[in-house]
Amino acid sequence: MPRKTRPGKKFLAVSTPKCKKNSQAYSTLQQASATIGHRLTGSENGKKAEEYAFNLLKEYGFKDVRYQPFEVESWSRGKLRVLVGPDAAHLQEVKSVSLAHSPVKADLTATVIDMGNGLEADYQARPNVVKNKIALVYLGVLPGSAPGTGTLHRSEKTALATKYGAKGIIIINTVAGGTLLTGTASVTGKLIPIPAVCIGKEDGMNFKKQLASGPLTATISMTNFSGVIKARNVIATLPGKSLPNEKIVVGGHLDTWDLATGAIDNGIGSFSVIDMARTFKALHLQPQRTVEFVLFMGEEEGLLGSKAYVAEATKNKTIDQIAFMLNYDMTNDPKGYNATDEFCKPLFQAIGALASKLDTTFKNNFSSRAGLHSDHQSFMLHGVPTGGSFGGALPNKGRDCYHADCDSFDLVDESGLKNTVRFSSMLVYGLADVQKIPAKHLNDAETKAFLIRNNLKEPLQIAGEWRWTD
Ligand SMILES: [Zn+2]
Repeated sequence: MPRKTRPGKKFLAVSTPKCKKNSQAYSTLQQASATIGHRLTGSENGKKAEEYAFNLLKEYGFKDVRYQPFEVESWSRGKLRVLVGPDAAHLQEVKSVSLAHSPVKADLTATVIDMGNGLEADYQARPNVVKNKIALVYLGVLPGSAPGTGTLHRSEKTALATKYGAKGIIIINTVAGGTLLTGTASVTGKLIPIPAVCIGKEDGMNFKKQLASGPLTATISMTNFSGVIKARNVIATLPGKSLPNEKIVVGGHLDTWDLATGAIDNGIGSFSVIDMARTFKALHLQPQRTVEFVLFMGEEEGLLGSKAYVAEATKNKTIDQIAFMLNYDMTNDPKGYNATDEFCKPLFQAIGALASKLDTTFKNNFSSRAGLHSDHQSFMLHGVPTGGSFGGALPNKGRDCYHADCDSFDLVDESGLKNTVRFSSMLVYGLADVQKIPAKHLNDAETKAFLIRNNLKEPLQIAGEWRWTD
């Protein structure tokens, strides 16, 4: 076991009952949700959220808190009306939301075609049926589908509808109760050529029933904004005692979609990061390495903030200083630690053993895996070892409100949130203070091999993020 995984009293202090009592993540997230609302990147609200985080970190005593501004192409919704009926003369408005990266303007009336799950096989069975029509597609796998039927991301289902000539796509949410979901319908992050909207499950299933016995027509009219927006990551730095040029980046995305306040995605992750920062200051902890607490913006529109961070670090040649990146996205009540690198297991388990000694609900599980679609991805693609805390379920069926209009503060579980902060603070401290981190930066060829080994080549190619020619 590496010597420095037992750093003594101060280290354990981050997880004591007193510390649990002092936890502020729940109250700060509650206050931010009530006073700001959603935290959409590039919006007035987004700006307020950046300032809220900045001020909190200052208040906690960080001398070095900075904004990292970036400018990117982004998308935001304008107006939308979706009307459906047996013919153009008998249309009724349906509750709906535009999916991100839909065209800036669309005005379309066409026949609706039930394309089932919207998979390649559904189109191949009837290749021309959706041409110049509107595809009606289920977001997940329809009950009664053939055993083993897989599903695709909403953006991939939209790409398929486009490929088979559809002029628009209506996606039926899988969650009951009229819940609407947003998110991108674009595989590349660029604007898509056809309007894509989401409707509630009950409405959608009802239309499928009507389509079984007669035709349906729909009108989709929408306006959206696409253009350059300004946003800012917020970075608080705790300089390392003896290795100031080695960094642990502790990140989580502060931004949300705009349908709700994004308490789960990603209030619980980003406010955990803020409260981990507070914990380090309150306990006067200064590990050997530098710790950077980073609140990213623009994650939801395509990891824009973390890409900007990595671009800057590459440009000023500090990327090699990042020894490890820990990401917190919808993390709740963790039961273990994860890392992309299997060699981290002994260290992570040694830190976790201390956590589970203090609280037996922490199971000290370890997982070595690599996935996509959150801010760690931007670092991972540049060979930086990444990881975090994992294994707890989302509270109060929070999963049902993913990207939806019900992702609000009442879903948050105070004790789960506290556990994220205390167990993750231990990991941060353990990593930042250990003598040697048993994970190394991968070079270009190693990164490529690593991604292939983890089956990430194909999804990265679809997203246009595969930088190699083979
Ligand atoms: Zn998220």
